[in-house]
Formats: sequence, structure tokens, C-alpha cells
Amino acid sequence: MDDKRLYSPSVTKEVIQKYGFKFSKSLGQNFLIDGNIIDNICIESGITDSDFVLEIGPGIGTLTQSLCERAKKVIAIELDRKLLPILEETLSSYDNVEVVHGDVLKIDLESLLREKFKGEKASVVANLPYYITTPIIMRFLEEKINVEKIVVMVQKEVAYRMKANPGNKDYGALSIAVQYYSDPEIILNVPKNVFMPRPNVDSAVIMLNIHKEPRYSVSDEKLLFQIVKAAFGKRRKTLLNALSSSGLGLTKDEVNKALERCGIDPKRRGETLTISEYVTLTESIAQAK
Ligand code: SAM
Repeated sequence: MDDKRLYSPSVTKEVIQKYGFKFSKSLGQNFLIDGNIIDNICIESGITDSDFVLEIGPGIGTLTQSLCERAKKVIAIELDRKLLPILEETLSSYDNVEVVHGDVLKIDLESLLREKFKGEKASVVANLPYYITTPIIMRFLEEKINVEKIVVMVQKEVAYRMKANPGNKDYGALSIAVQYYSDPEIILNVPKNVFMPRPNVDSAVIMLNIHKEPRYSVSDEKLLFQIVKAAFGKRRKTLLNALSSSGLGLTKDEVNKALERCGIDPKRRGETLTISEYVTLTESIAQAK
């Protein structure tokens, strides 16, 4: 099987039949069956033979094979135990890969990366399980895991939300969280027919270039994201109403004064504020608390 590429649909079918593997919808198992998409992901992510790569959900190893051919070392975290014997076979000719059985949301990522990559910065490259796209990305960003970029296949709609700017209908708490920590760039739009089985949604590959130095300085990150959540939780309301009727514990008068102090019109809606404005507002609200 070594010399046969897994992205060929007939090879994928052959592998899953050999092992009696059944796709699990609940684990988001949609395997790539298109060599061009895989090449594009690898090229656009700019992985070279000095790079360490963390893959989330290798499946039967289709993207993993190409990553192994380009990177110095690949660690692949897979939750589904039934895929482990398959990966052992499909990745047997590569000596720079290690498959780790576990849940990417629970595993101790800091220790894993420190142990396997000896503290060197890594890149995440993955075709993510869509049912947990946002928690996975937010875990890497919020916990400031030592990675320099995250190149991932996600639902198209989620990719556009991550990239959206103020005033755009897709702009929301996810856009702010992602852009607070990184510069997102959509690198590929991907149709449904490059997966087996076909998902119900279109996909896109997004690259998040993590800021080397924090771009925004805020004294209380937790409060910033509470404010963002409150502002978008009541999208139709003005900032004044949304923030004073949220769990922030502030009266209308306090919110009004905090907004005035930083020169933000209380009648504006949360969806019009830039990240810098949210940062300024956070400092102003912190004074009121
Ligand atoms: N990389 C393969 C490909 O492109 O063909 C498979 C991608 S498939 C969309 C997502 C993979 O993530 C599956 O192999 C699934 O078993 C795995 N997975 C699902 N939940 C996971 C979790 N919590 N932690 C690690 N892997 C997970």
C-alpha cells in the first residue's frame, strides 16, 4: 500500500474495506480524496524539512503522508482507536511521524509539544473534525500553545466568520477572538466532492498566523471577552442596552459613563466596534467595576 496514494478514492475504499472500518458521523470523519487539495494545503502552509507539524485527526493518514514527506517531524493526535492499526500500516514507511491516541480537547498539549518537539515552535496542519472546530482553535489561541501558525480545513461559513471585519454580517465574537491573537487568511475554498463521505457543507482552508507579540494590550483579557460576548449576545440592541442587561453586573448609568469616557456612542451596536475599540472599552469598564 506504501506506493499507492491514499487520496485515490479506490485506495481509500480498499483500506477501509480491509479493516472493516465504518465512518463515524459523530467524530466528523470525512476523509480527503483529492491530491490537489492536499498538495495545496501543504504548499500554502509553507512547511519545509526544518518544520515540526502537529496534525489533529489524521484519519487513515491521507494528509499525514504528504506532511511526512515535507516536514522534519509530524505528531498526529487521533481519537478513534479503530484508526490506529490502519495508521500503523499506511504510515509504516515514514520514520518522522508519531501517532498519539487521545482527544485534542483534553490532551496536555503543552507537555506533548515540549516532549516531542523539544520546545521548537510548531505549526498545526489539519482537516478538522467539524463538530469541534471552534473549541479546538480557541484552545490553541487562549491557552497560547506554542505554535506559529494554524492551517486548517473548516466549514466555509466558520472560516468567513473568523476573517470578518466590523459591519460585515459574519462579524462576531469568533472574529474578534481569532483576530485578537492572529491574522487569518483564507487560502482555499473547497467543494464537498473532495471528501469521502461527502459532508453537507462547503469547506475552506484558513491559515491563522499567530501574532508573535500581542497586538493589543489589555489588562484583563477575560473581561474583554465577557464584554464582547455580552455585546454580541444581544446583537439587535444598542451597546448601552446590551451591556447593562448582561451578566457584567453594571447599571445603565455605569455603562453609559464607561462608554462616554472612551468616546464610544452608547447607541452603536456591538457589531460596529473594532477590536481596538473593544480594548479601550474594556479598560474603561474595568475602571467602573
Ligand atoms: N485527516 C484526515 C483526512 O483529511 O482525510 C481525516 C480528517 S476527518 C475530517 C477528522 C478526524 O479527526 C477523524 O479522523 C476523527 O476520528 C478525528 N477526531 C475527531 N474528534 C477528535 C478529537 N476530539 N481529537 C482528535 N481527533 C479527533
